[in-house]
Amino acid sequence: MADECLFCRIVRGEIPATLVAENASCIAFRDLGPKAPTHVLVIPRKHVESLNTLDDPALVAEMTALAQQVAKAEGIDGPGYRLVINTNAHGGQTVFHLHLHVLGGRQMKWPPG
Ligand code: AMP
Ligand code: ZN
Repeated sequence: MADECLFCRIVRGEIPATLVAENASCIAFRDLGPKAPTHVLVIPRKHVESLNTLDDPALVAEMTALAQQVAKAEGIDGPGYRLVINTNAHGGQTVFHLHLHVLGGRQMKWPPG
Protein backbone atom coordinates (compact mmCIF):
# COMPACT_ATOMS: atom_id res chain seq x y z
CA MET A 1 0.00 0.00 0.00
CA ALA A 2 1.35 3.43 -0.98
CA ASP A 3 0.88 4.82 2.56
CA GLU A 4 3.35 2.31 3.98
CA CYS A 5 5.55 1.88 0.90
CA LEU A 6 9.20 2.59 1.74
CA PHE A 7 9.92 4.48 -1.46
CA CYS A 8 6.67 6.47 -1.28
CA ARG A 9 7.82 7.51 2.18
CA ILE A 10 11.16 8.67 0.70
CA VAL A 11 9.25 10.66 -1.97
CA ARG A 12 7.21 12.31 0.82
CA GLY A 13 10.39 13.07 2.81
CA GLU A 14 9.31 10.88 5.75
CA ILE A 15 12.45 8.72 5.47
CA PRO A 16 15.83 10.32 4.77
CA ALA A 17 17.62 9.61 1.51
CA THR A 18 20.55 11.19 -0.30
CA LEU A 19 18.92 12.78 -3.34
CA VAL A 20 21.16 13.23 -6.36
CA ALA A 21 18.71 14.40 -9.05
CA GLU A 22 15.03 14.89 -9.78
CA ASN A 23 12.63 15.78 -12.54
CA ALA A 24 8.88 16.40 -12.65
CA SER A 25 7.94 12.73 -12.36
CA CYS A 26 10.95 11.02 -10.75
CA ILE A 27 13.62 11.29 -8.06
CA ALA A 28 17.08 9.72 -7.87
CA PHE A 29 18.82 8.83 -4.58
CA ARG A 30 21.74 6.72 -3.40
CA ASP A 31 21.10 3.06 -2.61
CA LEU A 32 21.55 2.34 1.10
CA GLY A 33 23.46 -0.88 0.37
CA PRO A 34 25.51 0.03 -2.69
CA LYS A 35 26.56 -2.87 -4.95
CA ALA A 36 29.00 -0.70 -6.95
CA PRO A 37 30.95 2.55 -6.35
CA THR A 38 28.00 4.38 -7.92
CA HIS A 39 24.61 2.87 -7.06
CA VAL A 40 21.67 5.20 -7.51
CA LEU A 41 17.96 4.34 -7.60
CA VAL A 42 15.63 6.22 -9.94
CA ILE A 43 11.98 5.97 -8.94
CA PRO A 44 8.71 7.51 -10.09
CA ARG A 45 7.13 9.91 -7.60
CA LYS A 46 3.86 8.03 -8.03
CA HIS A 47 3.44 4.53 -6.65
CA VAL A 48 3.80 1.76 -9.22
CA GLU A 49 4.33 -1.71 -7.75
CA SER A 50 6.51 -3.14 -10.50
CA LEU A 51 7.07 -3.08 -14.25
CA ASN A 52 4.21 -5.60 -14.49
CA THR A 53 1.67 -3.05 -13.27
CA LEU A 54 3.01 -0.01 -15.13
CA ASP A 55 0.14 1.52 -17.13
CA ASP A 56 2.07 4.55 -18.37
CA PRO A 57 5.13 3.38 -20.37
CA ALA A 58 6.23 7.00 -20.93
CA LEU A 59 7.20 7.01 -17.25
CA VAL A 60 10.09 4.64 -18.00
CA ALA A 61 11.37 7.13 -20.59
CA GLU A 62 11.37 9.78 -17.87
CA MET A 63 13.19 7.40 -15.52
CA THR A 64 15.86 6.63 -18.13
CA ALA A 65 16.22 10.34 -18.94
CA LEU A 66 16.99 10.97 -15.26
CA ALA A 67 19.36 7.97 -15.19
CA GLN A 68 21.22 9.45 -18.17
CA GLN A 69 21.60 12.72 -16.24
CA VAL A 70 22.81 10.85 -13.13
CA ALA A 71 25.36 8.83 -15.14
CA LYS A 72 26.82 12.02 -16.55
CA ALA A 73 26.91 13.78 -13.17
CA GLU A 74 28.60 10.75 -11.56
CA GLY A 75 31.19 10.57 -14.36
CA ILE A 76 30.27 6.99 -15.28
CA ASP A 77 28.81 7.79 -18.70
CA GLY A 78 32.19 7.41 -20.45
CA PRO A 79 33.48 4.23 -18.73
CA GLY A 80 29.98 2.78 -18.78
CA TYR A 81 27.24 1.68 -16.44
CA ARG A 82 24.32 -0.69 -16.09
CA LEU A 83 20.58 -0.05 -15.67
CA VAL A 84 18.54 -2.77 -13.97
CA ILE A 85 14.85 -3.18 -13.15
CA ASN A 86 14.28 -6.24 -10.96
CA THR A 87 10.76 -7.63 -11.22
CA ASN A 88 9.14 -10.04 -8.73
CA ALA A 89 10.82 -13.02 -7.13
CA HIS A 90 12.96 -14.39 -9.97
CA GLY A 91 14.13 -10.87 -10.80
CA GLY A 92 15.16 -10.31 -7.18
CA GLN A 93 12.74 -7.47 -6.45
CA THR A 94 12.62 -6.68 -2.72
CA VAL A 95 10.98 -3.24 -2.71
CA PHE A 96 7.64 -3.16 -4.50
CA HIS A 97 7.79 0.39 -5.83
CA LEU A 98 9.18 0.49 -9.37
CA HIS A 99 12.86 1.49 -9.43
CA LEU A 100 15.72 1.62 -11.88
CA HIS A 101 19.17 0.74 -10.51
CA VAL A 102 22.00 2.84 -11.97
CA LEU A 103 25.23 0.92 -11.31
CA GLY A 104 28.73 2.00 -12.30
CA GLY A 105 32.29 2.72 -11.27
CA ARG A 106 33.53 -0.83 -11.77
CA GLN A 107 33.54 -3.55 -14.41
CA MET A 108 30.17 -5.35 -14.48
CA LYS A 109 29.96 -9.10 -15.09
CA TRP A 110 27.81 -10.89 -17.64
CA PRO A 111 25.67 -12.89 -17.28
CA PRO A 112 24.32 -11.39 -14.04
CA GLY A 113 23.89 -13.74 -11.08
P1 AMP B 1 15.41 -4.43 -5.43
O1 AMP B 1 16.08 -5.60 -4.73
O2 AMP B 1 15.63 -4.39 -6.91
O3 AMP B 1 13.93 -4.36 -5.06
O4 AMP B 1 16.12 -3.13 -4.90
C1 AMP B 1 15.79 -2.49 -3.72
C2 AMP B 1 16.98 -1.66 -3.34
O5 AMP B 1 16.58 -0.69 -2.39
C3 AMP B 1 18.14 -2.45 -2.73
O6 AMP B 1 19.31 -2.28 -3.53
C4 AMP B 1 18.30 -1.82 -1.34
O7 AMP B 1 19.66 -1.70 -0.95
C5 AMP B 1 17.66 -0.45 -1.53
N1 AMP B 1 17.11 0.17 -0.34
C6 AMP B 1 16.33 -0.41 0.60
N2 AMP B 1 15.97 0.50 1.53
C7 AMP B 1 16.53 1.67 1.16
C8 AMP B 1 16.52 2.99 1.70
N3 AMP B 1 15.84 3.29 2.83
N4 AMP B 1 17.21 3.95 1.05
C9 AMP B 1 17.90 3.67 -0.06
N5 AMP B 1 17.92 2.45 -0.65
C10 AMP B 1 17.26 1.47 -0.03
ZN1 ZN C 1 5.43 3.37 -3.35
